[in-house]
Amino acid sequence: MNSEVAHPSVAQGEIKTSPEAIQKVNLLGMSRSEMEKFFEDMGEKKFRAGQVMKWIHQFFVTDFAEMTNISGKLREKLEKICEIKAPEVVHRNYSKDGTRKWVFRVGDGEGSLVETVLIPAEDKTGERKTLCISSQVGCALDCSFCSTGKQGFQRDLTPAEIIGQLWMANFSYMEEVPVAERERSVTNVVMMGMGEPLLNYDAVLSSMSIMLDDFAYGMSKRRVTLSTSGVVPKIDQLAKDIDVALAISLHAPNDELRNELVPINKKYPLEQLIAACQRYITKDGNESARKHVTIEYVMLDGVNDKPEHAQQLLKLLKNLPSKINLIPFNPFPHAPYGRSSRNRIIAFQKTLSDAGFVCTIRQTRGDDIDAACGQLVGQVADRTRRAAQWKKKIAEKNEILRSEG
Ligand code: SAH
Ligand code: SF4
Repeated sequence: MNSEVAHPSVAQGEIKTSPEAIQKVNLLGMSRSEMEKFFEDMGEKKFRAGQVMKWIHQFFVTDFAEMTNISGKLREKLEKICEIKAPEVVHRNYSKDGTRKWVFRVGDGEGSLVETVLIPAEDKTGERKTLCISSQVGCALDCSFCSTGKQGFQRDLTPAEIIGQLWMANFSYMEEVPVAERERSVTNVVMMGMGEPLLNYDAVLSSMSIMLDDFAYGMSKRRVTLSTSGVVPKIDQLAKDIDVALAISLHAPNDELRNELVPINKKYPLEQLIAACQRYITKDGNESARKHVTIEYVMLDGVNDKPEHAQQLLKLLKNLPSKINLIPFNPFPHAPYGRSSRNRIIAFQKTLSDAGFVCTIRQTRGDDIDAACGQLVGQVADRTRRAAQWKKKIAEKNEILRSEG
């Protein structure tokens, strides 16, 4: 599954390092089963995988020499053929309100840029730190209110690039702490950064298995949320493969409007999407992360925020155990929408809560560092055709405004 690196030739009990085998295997993105296989292929015991994973993901150690419970001989062997490498941070920004943002460079040479945001908040159990992780560079799906969509799709992130975002966020709190005292700070992960996670399925699944693994981050499955715009067959696949929380970017209560806002709706319309959500929810086990789905609904002024939309939404979600999260629209340059007024959002929320739904309004944080939802690609370089078309459209619009003004 870890397709980012060519494995050097590893034969039973011996390692052949030919001069051309210079590309090292990056252990950062390997799930436990992959790493166990890797050690077994080397003629080592598979419990080494758990040991190494702990060093990497719990103590944030990237130098094999520091892995003191591993024999010198094995450490030497590992140094020759492996590395532990998080994506390069090209920019970091820590906001006054505690929000942190990182811009990573991924890929060779100039590469591409992706962003990760950490949002702190208080909750019943103490301080919560939620990390919003990207899964792709850009996105192919072109939702009309999303700046990532306007960038077009560049490429999938590898497991090391996905889990590397979590690794780096945790490490940022521990850099100055001695290795033995290091701990994990991030409490929640949402796959709500750039990209559609279900369209980079294998890498996202592998990364989430590392998040849940007790030898790595040991996160509670209810604290790992995958957000999707509605790739129906992959929702069913996910239900089979892993138990994590699911969020659906709904944004519209009827097909006509949703086709406009979230174009993948033309392929998988609401009826199919809601049915997939029903299937995702499991009745067994109180501990399951799949007792309900979260419905995300971006509030676009005059577009999807009217009383009739709230009524349609109530009908649509009538039989689906769900919690609704209203997201005030975050504008980006030349966005074709405005944010609904506070009063509109509160009225919408009231209609839903009065009908018995848990309905929250997302607080907008990190505005001062452009870290709010949908602003994640503010300064990211783009090279796709869709991005070029978008720029052309903006230039034309500016021209019209100039000639009118
Ligand atoms: N592709 C996935 C996950 C990434 S988008 C998805 O669509 O679910 C993460 C969330 O941010 C989605 O709910 C998305 O609809 C929302 N979002 C995108 N652009 C936004 C904007 N400009 N303002 C507010 N929310 C936005
Ligand atoms: Fe892609 Fe999600 Fe943005 Fe839609 S909202 S364009 S699916 S990142």
